[in-house]
Amino acid sequence: MALDFDGVLSHHGAPAPLPETVVWMKRCESVFGGGRIFILSNKPTDVRKQWFAEHFPEIRFISGVRKKPFPDGLTKTGELSGVPLSHILMVDDRLLTGCLAALVADARPCYIRRPYVSYRHRPFAEMFFSILRLFERCYIKAITLY
Ligand SMILES: [Mg+2]
Repeated sequence: MALDFDGVLSHHGAPAPLPETVVWMKRCESVFGGGRIFILSNKPTDVRKQWFAEHFPEIRFISGVRKKPFPDGLTKTGELSGVPLSHILMVDDRLLTGCLAALVADARPCYIRRPYVSYRHRPFAEMFFSILRLFERCYIKAITLY
């Protein structure tokens, strides 16, 4: 399983996942094993990597690859986990980055329709990404109608 960070584990720019997503990741870890869970974020900051190293040492960050929607991060996830790409779930709140990367890589996308947002912490970034997500949904609807 590959997890996006911003919007999926916390609001944009947060240094660590929210408490409820920590609980959820612990459940995922017990089901899948931490070695089969990866963070595939276009913003793999050192602060986030450090947080995971302390709290989920088995969960690895994918880095040194081209950003989503390039499929490279999912290809690397498959190589590191030894799991066929068709068995990998990419959990992302963006259709044209993570979900598209999953489709390109022949993995499975899981679209988070209601991502975590915090207008209090990052009003302009959250507004920008909310508009971007809306645009993506409209674009996908438009191109699938014809
Ligand atoms: Mg995101």
